[in-house]
Amino acid sequence: MLVAGIPVPVHAATPADLAAAVAAHLRDGPLRTEQWHAEQRQGGPARSVAAPDPDVVVAARSTDEHGFGSVVVRAPEAAGAYPTGWLFVARREAGAWRVAVEGEPTFAELSAGSEILHEEERRVLAGAGGRSEAGPLSTNPSDRRTGMRLPWATGQSWRYTGGPHPMSGGVRSSVDFAGGDGRVLAVRGGLAYTMCGSGRGWIRVVHDRGLATDYYHLQGNISADGKAVKEGDFLGNIGNDVSCGGSSTGAHVHFSLRRNNAYVPIDRYNFGKWVISASGADYSGSAWHGSRRVGVGGTLHNHGVLGFTQGVVDTDGGTVLNRRSGPGAGHPVVGTVLDGTTVTVECSARGTRHVGRSGYSSDLWNKLTDGSWVSDVFLWTGTGDPVNGLCP
Ligand SMILES: [Zn+2]
Repeated sequence: MLVAGIPVPVHAATPADLAAAVAAHLRDGPLRTEQWHAEQRQGGPARSVAAPDPDVVVAARSTDEHGFGSVVVRAPEAAGAYPTGWLFVARREAGAWRVAVEGEPTFAELSAGSEILHEEERRVLAGAGGRSEAGPLSTNPSDRRTGMRLPWATGQSWRYTGGPHPMSGGVRSSVDFAGGDGRVLAVRGGLAYTMCGSGRGWIRVVHDRGLATDYYHLQGNISADGKAVKEGDFLGNIGNDVSCGGSSTGAHVHFSLRRNNAYVPIDRYNFGKWVISASGADYSGSAWHGSRRVGVGGTLHNHGVLGFTQGVVDTDGGTVLNRRSGPGAGHPVVGTVLDGTTVTVECSARGTRHVGRSGYSSDLWNKLTDGSWVSDVFLWTGTGDPVNGLCP
């Protein structure tokens, strides 16, 4: 256990009274809410239901005054069942533990003031968003830029074994991958945590910009309690671990996206320059790289991170895109760029309006670093807004 700069004794195991307080907190609030939301999404009755008994796990650290760790509600070991897990932070006030879990407003407040967290944790978990050239995501829900690769070595191709499906909470936050050398790597830098009490199977990495990623079913995973990881750092191997429940019928990684402390639909987010696309049923779907579509069962080549000021040329079924001398179709063609190419945007301006994939319509044009211009509807950036500001 590493708790940098903390001159107080840290307990190796969670004290029973802290574990009990965390369990009670979940039963009374977040768990009930989660359950309620899950029912809502599945069209069930909007009512409060008896919360399952939380299995308070803990990859935790605590002192007499402070507690921190993960808490997981185990799922049955059955197909279609998924565990739910949160990081929690606790502080003893007037003799009683005050507890907050990810997603609650008080989580940020308690995290910011917790001396049991290291400096980077206080910053990231308190929702400061971290340093990023792209700024926080939370203010703009249509900004889907991730700055993330696929969760394996750049340059390798893995099988896309499962399209968007849930982790917990009902939203299709997750996709499955297998193959290659089986080594699962962090998609972006952040702080890593083991979620299951066993220390096996499930890693969460909390990134900047309000995003986090989960990796489940791992075997031989790292032991992590706030460990700083960089993009591409080893997290574990694909496997069949079900330490927190659920099922796995072949070694794979179940990869999930979280935003602002909750699972979000992974549809239309980009990893390794592939845009994940959901379709009718859980586990089906595809991924797009420019106009190239790969369905579930196909292989995805990890192209690495798409930068926050970059885009992938998507001609919506064509092979090349015209580059023009100015921001509009009336400007002369000065060259072309191939579908699927990564380009970097210098700045943007308004010009002629066009319509691209899925009816996306915009009058935004992007000036590339070579001085030529392309319409934003033929460039997948992850947002409809200028990615590098308006041109002066
Ligand atoms: Zn899965």
